[in-house]
Amino acid sequence: MNDKQIAQLRQLPSVDRLLEASDALSDYYGRSMVTTAARTVLEQLRTEIRTANANIDLAIPTILAQVEAHLTEQVAPTLFPVINATGVIIHTNLGRAPLSQNAIHAIEQIARGYSNLEFDMANGKRGSRSVHAVDLVQSLTGAPAATVVNNSASGVLLMLSALCAGKEVIVSRGQLVEIGGGFRMPDVMRQAGVTLVEVGTTNRTHLRDFSNAITENTAAILSIHHSNYKIIGFTTEPTLSELAQLAHANDLPLLFDQGSGALLDTTQFGLEQEPLVQKSVADGCDVIVFSGDKLLGGPQAGVICGRSDLIATIKRHPLARAVRPDKLAYAGLAATFDSYVRGKALEEIPVWQMLAQTVDEIAVVAAEWCAILCAAGANASVIAGHSTVGGGSLPGQALPTMLVAIEAEKPDLLAERLRFATVGIIGRIQQNNLLLDPRTVLPHQRETVGRILNETFVKVA
Ligand SMILES: *Cc1c(COP(=O)(O)O)cnc(C)c1O
Repeated sequence: MNDKQIAQLRQLPSVDRLLEASDALSDYYGRSMVTTAARTVLEQLRTEIRTANANIDLAIPTILAQVEAHLTEQVAPTLFPVINATGVIIHTNLGRAPLSQNAIHAIEQIARGYSNLEFDMANGKRGSRSVHAVDLVQSLTGAPAATVVNNSASGVLLMLSALCAGKEVIVSRGQLVEIGGGFRMPDVMRQAGVTLVEVGTTNRTHLRDFSNAITENTAAILSIHHSNYKIIGFTTEPTLSELAQLAHANDLPLLFDQGSGALLDTTQFGLEQEPLVQKSVADGCDVIVFSGDKLLGGPQAGVICGRSDLIATIKRHPLARAVRPDKLAYAGLAATFDSYVRGKALEEIPVWQMLAQTVDEIAVVAAEWCAILCAAGANASVIAGHSTVGGGSLPGQALPTMLVAIEAEKPDLLAERLRFATVGIIGRIQQNNLLLDPRTVLPHQRETVGRILNETFVKVA
C-alpha cells in the first residue's frame, strides 16, 4: 500500500459517524439494518482502496448514498405491477385476470379487518368458510352444490382423491394433457391414487371405447377440456351428454375438468364457443372443476360444483383442508360472481371488457401512442394484427386488433428498455418490430404507456 491508500483508509468514517449522519435512513429502515448496510459499504470501500489505488470519493454524503442504494436494493419487492401490452388477455405469467373494481373493493374490505370467515352470525358460534360464494355458483351454473378450493389443479386432485382413490378412472387418450407448469393429467391421477384406464386413440375415441372399459373397479369417467391444444382433421369424441348417459346407466359419475370455465358466450366476439359451465351441468356432468382466474375473470381459485352427495364427500376429504382458499380469494370470487348474477359481467369484469373491445376503439389508442412515438423520433406505425385469449382458453383463436409496431435494429434491447421503465411494459417481438397491443392495457394505464414511450425515445434521441 502507498501513502495515498493509507491516508484514504484513515479518512473512512466510522459506522457510528455514518449512523449519526443518517437519521432519515434509520427512521425508515431501523438502526440495525442501517448499521449492517453501513458495515457492508465500508468494507467494500476498504477493498476498493486497497486494490484500486485511485481517487475515491469518501465524503460522508457520498457514502450515505451508497448505504441507501444498498438498503433500497435489499427491500425491493420481487412482485410488482407491469403493463401487459402483449395482447394475450389471460396471461398466466403476468398474473392472469386483472380484477374488477367490485372484487378489489370486496378484497380491501375483508383485508382491512376481521370478518365472519368462519363465524356463524346467527348463533354467534363457529361457522364454516365453505359457505362463502357457493350460493352464487349454484344460481349461475344450476349445479345443486359447490365448494371452492385454492386453484383448479388442486380441485382436480381433490375430486379424484375423494371420489376415485384405489379405483379406476376412464379417460380418452385424446385428453391426457399437460396443462402447463408441469400439471400432467396422468401424474395427477397417480398422485390421487387412481388407476388410469386409457381408451381410444389420440385423434378418435368412441362411446363404445368407454363402455367396453367399464368394470366393477371403475369409479368414474373423466373428461378433460381441450384447453390449450386442438386435435384437427380425422377426429371424433363423444359429447358430454353421451358420456353422462353412459356413466349414469352404469351408476358412475361423469367428472369434468373444465379448465377456463366460461359463464358467458364467447361466440358474440367472433370466437368459437368456450364451453359454458351451465351447459356442462345441464349436459349431465356430476362434478365440474373450473378456474377462478381464467375466463371467469376473478382471483386464483378452483370452483368445484355438481351433485350434492359428491360435493359433500369432496368437502370431507382431508386434502380439502390443505387446499382451502383464503378469505381474500372468497371475497374477490364472490364479488366477481356477483357481477354475473346482476348481468353486468361484460361491463364490470376486465377480461370481458378486453374481449368486447372493438377494433375501432383499439385503433384510437394505437394511433395516440404512435403519434407520441413518431414525435419523439421513433420509427412507429399502426398495423392490423391479432390478440389471443390465452390462459388455456380457445387455442388457435384470435381477435382482430390494431398494434403499434416500433421498428428497431435490436428489438430485444428496446423490449428490455421498456421492461425496465418506471412501470415495466411487456410487448412482443416480431422480426424487427416491437409490437404493443392496446387491447390488454387497462384504460387507466394508457396515459402511462404514452408517457413512458415518449421518455424512452426522447432519451435515446
Ligand atoms: C388451467 C387448467 C387447469 C389448472 O387450473 P389452475 O386454476 O391454473 O390450477 C386444470 N385443467 C384444465 C383443463 C385447465 O385448463
